[in-house]
Amino acid sequence: MIPEEKVSEIRDRTDIVALVSEHVELKRSGTSLKGLCPFHGEKTPSFYVHPDRGFFHCFGCQLSGDAISFLMRIDGLAFPEALRVLAERAGVEITALDSEDASAARQARARKERLLSVLETAAGFFAKMLDAHRFGPMAWAELSRRGIDRPMVERYRLGYAPHGWDELANDLAQRGVSPRDAEQVGLIVPRKTGQGHYDRFRHRLMFPIADTHGKIVAFSGRALEPVEGDERARQEPPAKYVNSPETALYRKGDILFGLHEARVELRRQGIALVCEGNFDVVGLAQHGFHNVVAPLGTAFTPAQAKLLRRFASTAVLLFDADSAGRKAVRAAQPLLAKAGISGKVVTLPTGMDPDSFLRDRGAEALGKLINQAPPVVDWLIEGAAHDAGLDPRARADAIEALGPVIGSIDSPVERGLYEERVAQGFEI
Ligand SMILES: [Zn+2]
Repeated sequence: MIPEEKVSEIRDRTDIVALVSEHVELKRSGTSLKGLCPFHGEKTPSFYVHPDRGFFHCFGCQLSGDAISFLMRIDGLAFPEALRVLAERAGVEITALDSEDASAARQARARKERLLSVLETAAGFFAKMLDAHRFGPMAWAELSRRGIDRPMVERYRLGYAPHGWDELANDLAQRGVSPRDAEQVGLIVPRKTGQGHYDRFRHRLMFPIADTHGKIVAFSGRALEPVEGDERARQEPPAKYVNSPETALYRKGDILFGLHEARVELRRQGIALVCEGNFDVVGLAQHGFHNVVAPLGTAFTPAQAKLLRRFASTAVLLFDADSAGRKAVRAAQPLLAKAGISGKVVTLPTGMDPDSFLRDRGAEALGKLINQAPPVVDWLIEGAAHDAGLDPRARADAIEALGPVIGSIDSPVERGLYEERVAQGFEI
């Protein structure tokens, strides 16, 4: 528990204008400032910040509150989390009551800060290598193939992990980063024979993975075309994606790629586009879809659904049009339902993924599909009935597979309606 006077101190010492300005462009208007509300969609500003009284108010959606509630809402934080962030900004120490606990907590925090700074340093290195390394153009080639330009590269802080075995390891060592820290965040790996470490990510396009606060906690590296003369890579192509291992800072099922970049737009629209991979996220953002996230190298998890619910109440699933995509949709539905998110599905033409669709048909066509996306349950019933055809055995299996999906619907009335829908769909 944080004592009330601490809460007041943090509130008083927070510059609400500076805080809000990180998310909203504010213009002075009398004694207050105004801008476009980050919590609802609007074209003329009705969102006001009153610096003297330390609160905000929106005449459009009627939301109001102080700096703490602003941060909770915009970053999807719980009260104690928001307090901690603001305390850090304002330089207010939140001490635990027991002094032994306090020093342990301080040490843990210091270690966490140190590890985060190692990841931040690595992200800077990868970003620099994109332009400075002789094979950086190969990463740019992959980006241009997807139509991704420099502003988008900068927004998502993409980079290039050099070809070779120890370029990052050496750079970090030169900056005085301890190999132990770099190893603990999964950037370098101890050599099996002899001493020293080698880089985990080599000759890859790098996607930093940030937590809700925008702090980089891991990386995902995508393989590139082999370098000329690299026979080994040609004969034994490396894995398409290599992700950081799970570390003290990173549990893969807990994070959504792109969430930090998407958060303001997610809140404004209340709708999240959920796609399969990192590249889809950046590609969609490039085409103006900024409310987009992806689970990272996993199926959608309950933790991710809960996290997403803090930002949006509707999720539009935009998975590849193949059987794996269909399976992923079926698996996601109960999790979304449980988290209180209404799920919808975009059906791409067979064999297409978001990237090829955008390339072929354009952003407007995709926007249309998103607006017309049917609820997941409807989509699953229709798809299952269609796939099963007339074969009695296949029909029985398909109906059984729909069981958990229908079962996940909370409202008995709605569930009843869907049971009828299944009966109709399968003409039972
Ligand atoms: Zn508003």
